[in-house]
Amino acid sequence: MSAPRLHVDLEAIAANSRELVDRLSPRGIGVTGVTKALLGAPEVAREMLRGGVTGLGDSRVENLARLRAAGVTARRTLIRSASLSGGDRAVREADVSFTTEQAIVEELAAAAARAGVLHAVVLMVELGDLREGIAADDVVEAARAVQRLPGLRLIGLGANLACQSGVAPDQSKMDELSRLADAVDSLGGPPLSIVSGGNSANLGWALATADPGRVTDLRLGESILLGTDPLDRRPIPGLRTDAVSLTAEVIEAKVKPAQPWGRIAQGAFGVAAPRTETGAIRQLLVALGRQDTDPAGLTPPTGIRMLGASSDHLVLDAGDHEVGVGEELRFGLDYSALVRAATSPYVDTEFGSRTGA
Ligand SMILES: *Cc1c(COP(=O)(O)O)cnc(C)c1O
Repeated sequence: MSAPRLHVDLEAIAANSRELVDRLSPRGIGVTGVTKALLGAPEVAREMLRGGVTGLGDSRVENLARLRAAGVTARRTLIRSASLSGGDRAVREADVSFTTEQAIVEELAAAAARAGVLHAVVLMVELGDLREGIAADDVVEAARAVQRLPGLRLIGLGANLACQSGVAPDQSKMDELSRLADAVDSLGGPPLSIVSGGNSANLGWALATADPGRVTDLRLGESILLGTDPLDRRPIPGLRTDAVSLTAEVIEAKVKPAQPWGRIAQGAFGVAAPRTETGAIRQLLVALGRQDTDPAGLTPPTGIRMLGASSDHLVLDAGDHEVGVGEELRFGLDYSALVRAATSPYVDTEFGSRTGA
């Protein structure tokens, strides 16, 4: 196997999915497994489904197409709005589309008519994080407009918090979403079957609340893949945090002075963090850099410290460890490092169980 490579432990993905599904289901909340961080990998989608998620969500129509081509038959939801130019593809690849704009709703209706299908729509509501969403005051009118269009079926409302401005989900925001769902139902159309409360950042609220209200669904990516809570990036108790790791190879291992010498100007990526050590260190170079991942989001093996990173090199202090050229090191990743690695053409992804790796 070439390095660098992402390793995805499929057992851990299934276990995390199952744990979250089991904790949420007594509250009447199902899970949509979000596959975008690993580009809609069918291997991952199947483990999420094995863990009990009720459907799959992805922000990219390409990833939904990949799932369909692999024969994954679960409900597929496009969780970023289709673009105005992408109605036909959205209708072909997704069973459900999230959207917020009347012009796009009309395009989806036209595309559904062209394809001879009924396409399901979830309208996203702005609850204060200031990414996607229709203003609360305009939701009922927008819902009425969807209900009037042939080709479309309004099945729900959704909201997304925390991603853009870090606004935390709480009871009052979720109550507002439930109230809006009631208001839409009072229009007299088919009752909304999906109220999608948010992403992994909603777990703290969902697992503690005495009143989930009308929330029926959470869309979970990070918590399943990394076992962490996006609000503070801390591990969620009971979940595995080792489902995804990144392995790369040591290409230089030398004892070097801890301090650089010469006149210090900027490095390739601005002013380098000053080195604090004195004397000599065991310095490692790893064939991994900013073109492969987000180095700031990597956790090196215990006892090894990150000193810096450029486009193609990671510089490490091996501490007391004897690490030689050709050895591989395995790093933990945060969400940013994961997304960058998964989309880098230089990084392979392998699927397996940790023991079989
Ligand atoms: C990415 C995304 C999710 C998943 O978020 P996680 O924090 O990874 O659980 C959910 N909903 C929307 C709209 C998204 O774009």
